[in-house]
Amino acid sequence: MLRNDHDALWHNSLTPQTVRDGGFDATAVVHGKGCRLQDATGAWYLDARAGMWNTTLGYSCDRVVDAVTEQLRRLPVAQVIRYAEPAEISLRYARRLVAELPDPLNHVRFGSTGSQMTSAAVLLSRFVRKVRGETQRVKVLAFTNGYHGTGGLAGALTGERQMHALQAPLAPEVHHVRPWDLDALERAVQRRGPENITAVIVEPIMGTDVLPAPEGALARIRALCDRHGIHLIADEVTTGFGRTGAMSVMAARGVLPDMLVLGKGITSGYFPLAALVCSDAVLDEAVSRPEYVFPHGCTADGHPAAMAAGLAVLEELADGTLLERVRTRGAEIRRRLCAAADEIPLIHDVRGEGLMIGVELRRESGRLGATEMAGVRDACKAAGLLLTSTNNTLVLMPPLVLADEEADELVERLTVALRTVAGNAS
Ligand code: PLP
Repeated sequence: MLRNDHDALWHNSLTPQTVRDGGFDATAVVHGKGCRLQDATGAWYLDARAGMWNTTLGYSCDRVVDAVTEQLRRLPVAQVIRYAEPAEISLRYARRLVAELPDPLNHVRFGSTGSQMTSAAVLLSRFVRKVRGETQRVKVLAFTNGYHGTGGLAGALTGERQMHALQAPLAPEVHHVRPWDLDALERAVQRRGPENITAVIVEPIMGTDVLPAPEGALARIRALCDRHGIHLIADEVTTGFGRTGAMSVMAARGVLPDMLVLGKGITSGYFPLAALVCSDAVLDEAVSRPEYVFPHGCTADGHPAAMAAGLAVLEELADGTLLERVRTRGAEIRRRLCAAADEIPLIHDVRGEGLMIGVELRRESGRLGATEMAGVRDACKAAGLLLTSTNNTLVLMPPLVLADEEADELVERLTVALRTVAGNAS
């Protein structure tokens, strides 16, 4: 019943053939506690992927569960669309959320997914141009390997060649340059014409392969955007809400975007929610033609239960102790994995910030293929550790509430698995 029973549920990461013919050899999960997940066979795993990088407070945060439950009892549905009165909690949460972010990031729109809000950021940027009469400013620059979601526009922003190839045509007017190649970015601005470019979108630490912005890169991109009147959109769906030990990496680095996209940890994944926070200047620009409403929004935007979850998460992070622990615990895990590299040459590089950690693998003979990487993930699972990987990099994003013993266990289980893989290959 729970194994190989996936033809009704077309799981997002399965090939159609696997859905139709079976062969998905994984049991369902049935229970979560703290940083651990239990499957239907009764086995427990340490969840170093925090669901899909979003379960920041782990699986047992009573504060969030209670807040959502209470809100569902009091007012289970309300909208921020089409003349509806917003829920009181939407106003309260919006005020509280922007208070967490530096001025002038003072205005927030809500949606349900990161993809919805990265798309909304670009659409809002273009809306601003239209109402100001700059109708030719439609192009967007993004990085290859950047991830901004799926769907027509968010998928176009995402720089994954295969996603484009298999779903083409996605939205036009999005152009990609190599990650953090800022000379290439400047050349792209010149080639496409600065007056035609509405926005540049960046993740301050790219989730794919965990690639942090090099020193000074964010400030240089900010200056480039300022020089040409281009909006800077920061996608902090993964990096925001404490993942690196800060509420926002951009704010921590002192480089403010015009628009900031948040998601994932915003509710610790307990309820779908994402946010687009805009600067005062963006709102002012949009007022150029006061008669127009920005025509974007969905029925579930600003769902009261999501607002309650978001508020509870902010309360949980409020005193800063958890964020501080994320920084120290992450540094310690990275230190120990770097030390393990002396003995496990498969570990090529360890990087990241806080509890967003990339472990790049490489063999003397070169890169590992997709099947080999799947083998590494399987070995980790056999050792009781769940994680994701992108290309040749294992991505560790455990819940932020990871305890010291669990951090030890994570390193131990990962190194056991990597020794097994290295041993099998030799
Ligand atoms: N942006 C970034 C940086 C992400 O990592 C993701 C999801 O992984 C998204 C956007 C898309 O968010 P969602 O999956 O909620 O649509």
